[in-house]
Amino acid sequence: MQDFYVVESIFFPSEGSNLTPAHHYNDFRFKTYAPVAFRYFRELFGIRPDDYLYSLCSEPLIELCSSGASGSLFYVSSDDEFIIKTVQHKEAEFLQKLLPGYYMNLNQNPRTLLPKFYGLYCVQAGGKNIRIVVMNNLLPRSVKMHIKYDLKGSTYKRRASQKEREKPLPTLKDLDFLQDIPDGLFLDADMYNALCKTLQRDCLVLQSFKIMDYSLLMSIHNIDHAQREPSGSETQYSVDTRRPAPQKALYSTAMESIQGEARRGGTMETEDHMGGIPARNSKGERLLLYIGIIDILQSYRFVKKLEHSWKALVHDGDTVSVHRPGFYAERFQRFMCSTVFKKIPFQPSWKSLKLKSQSSPIEQKTSEDLEQDSTISMIPRCQPLSQQS
Ligand code: ATP
Repeated sequence: MQDFYVVESIFFPSEGSNLTPAHHYNDFRFKTYAPVAFRYFRELFGIRPDDYLYSLCSEPLIELCSSGASGSLFYVSSDDEFIIKTVQHKEAEFLQKLLPGYYMNLNQNPRTLLPKFYGLYCVQAGGKNIRIVVMNNLLPRSVKMHIKYDLKGSTYKRRASQKEREKPLPTLKDLDFLQDIPDGLFLDADMYNALCKTLQRDCLVLQSFKIMDYSLLMSIHNIDHAQREPSGSETQYSVDTRRPAPQKALYSTAMESIQGEARRGGTMETEDHMGGIPARNSKGERLLLYIGIIDILQSYRFVKKLEHSWKALVHDGDTVSVHRPGFYAERFQRFMCSTVFKKIPFQPSWKSLKLKSQSSPIEQKTSEDLEQDSTISMIPRCQPLSQQS
């Protein structure tokens, strides 16, 4: 337990010292919170100390234009592995308090959609403190994302602003999702079960820490749209092959975060989906979903929000996103597992669908025939199978 409360502090004078090199900036102090505990957690996710330093320090970080309402700044490491987020004093304090219990859970369940915090630091310079957390990056820049949502399961004020919509890849919200994708997203039964089980377990962990107001960040890559786009627009960034690729963190992709249960069942697809979870929309278009739970450090804000949002509570108490943790968790899960994600009621694996389409023209009629059966009328209407391949 002592490891969680250690703060390592190193002073970097501009002229250098026995321990630190000279530099061209003003003097600063660099604090590392719980260095031993975080190193242990990084090890849990297969991140070696030298790979970690290499990812963060060998190339300049890339600033993302995704700062939310909190005014945090976001950076991604040049190898796409880590997100670096500036956090407020209270958030850093909350993370420190949360760490022992939070990581006890992650230790037992490394396959989780909860954020993985790999480090907490503070740079003190010119009388200012800049606190930063290092987390897993949910959205690989190597995959072109077509649409992105931040979902809470609440409808109150959950529509993206006009300003947000003007961004190249805006972060849309619950009401936008309901409008854009009213039928939801269809997942193979194994995948759906694994995802919902993981969400359920993660919500329980958050509930046990009385955490609320978290979101599910979901970015969607539409394979069919990408194939129609001119080549070159497929990826936003390419990997520099001259550099030795550092070892990828374990359980870091959406697929690795959920597939534990289904893998034991032995029926889950093993095709390479670039870490995304395969799904379809109601048009039958093939999608890859990149998801994770974000924004779990803001529970302290609730006290403030509660004080200021009495009007909203009076207005419509049931739809405001300020609720006790159990209610929040349940509503979140219900929204995700019945409105956002749906199980394909009958679906042979995609691979076998393709094979069947190649081998037997009679089989190709199957999905149309099946639509007439009312019990399976929810099957997304797929494109002709020949086009899919
Ligand atoms: P708000 O207060 O509006 O909720 P915030 O400043 O707390 O915002 P987040 O909601 O945590 O910020 O994230 C804002 C955006 O940053 C997200 O919509 C997403 O695009 C990006 N982002 C956050 N966390 C990650 C992550 N782990 N991986 C990739 N992108 C992320």
